[in-house]
Amino acid sequence: MSSSFIYDAINIFKYSPTGQGSRRVGGDTAYQQRYARLIHLTIEKLWMLWRQNEIGADTLGRNLYGDAAIRDGFDIRINRSFQPDKEPATYGTARNQAKLAAFSLILVHEGIHLVHDLNVVEEEVICRTVELLYYQDLIQGQDYTSRVTGERGTARLMAIGSDLGALISDLNGMRRWYDRAQLIDWILSIPIYHHWLTAQFVRRSIRWWGGIGNRTPLTRGLYLNALAEDQQRADAALMVEILGSINSQAEWRAARVRQTDHARLRQALIGPNSPSAPIAVELESALRRSNNSVFAQIIRDIGVPADRYPL
Ligand SMILES: [Zn+2]
Repeated sequence: MSSSFIYDAINIFKYSPTGQGSRRVGGDTAYQQRYARLIHLTIEKLWMLWRQNEIGADTLGRNLYGDAAIRDGFDIRINRSFQPDKEPATYGTARNQAKLAAFSLILVHEGIHLVHDLNVVEEEVICRTVELLYYQDLIQGQDYTSRVTGERGTARLMAIGSDLGALISDLNGMRRWYDRAQLIDWILSIPIYHHWLTAQFVRRSIRWWGGIGNRTPLTRGLYLNALAEDQQRADAALMVEILGSINSQAEWRAARVRQTDHARLRQALIGPNSPSAPIAVELESALRRSNNSVFAQIIRDIGVPADRYPL
């Protein structure tokens, strides 16, 4: 068995509105049900890990709140800076309860990683979504009965001390992206996630979260890369659609930051799988209306001969 404070951390989640599946995640009923089921499975998983002593506080890098993997030692490790003082006499202080709330929040995020087996980027979106829902519960404060003290307590996340302050400012930043349906863009602004992006995920999710128009230029550039790198399938129409969504020189520069494969993009525009005439015509007229010079720049950069897309 893991420590009693970890039992508290799981129990606080279990009885929170998010843990009870009553927070709205948006989307249709089926989507809501998927979330509720995921949360249920996560709670079960956390209890199992708790019984097996697979959850613990550890010394992690300053910017790493926690991690999860099936391995020797704890499967879930949470940064030690969020471990509350376990002495019953001081456990109930606001600072210790804020640490407990933070521990619980990070624990839930890592727990989802262990029950889910999705594309890494998509899984990260789901973890962060649940995390942000639960964050709302924790800043309001969650009442629970503590296994450490045997008494009622309230876990409330507050910025007491620099570690909690940094966590909360991260969460508030992430929240602003979430409110604009741009959590995916926030995640993809972190370079370690770039190589996990797959063409399959791009195809599946391209209409989600406000569609292409709501993606940052960097995300659009990364999507182009992922599609271009897929050797199995040429998604010319989709690549052209993404290219056509780029509205300014500045956006194109940002989209190109990580661009790798111009040959594949060129193929998309002029190869055998390039858009059928109606798509090409529609794209061109849209581009002419919006910003002629941007598309000219794009096809020049990609190396499409001018006579193929005369502007
Ligand atoms: Zn994660």
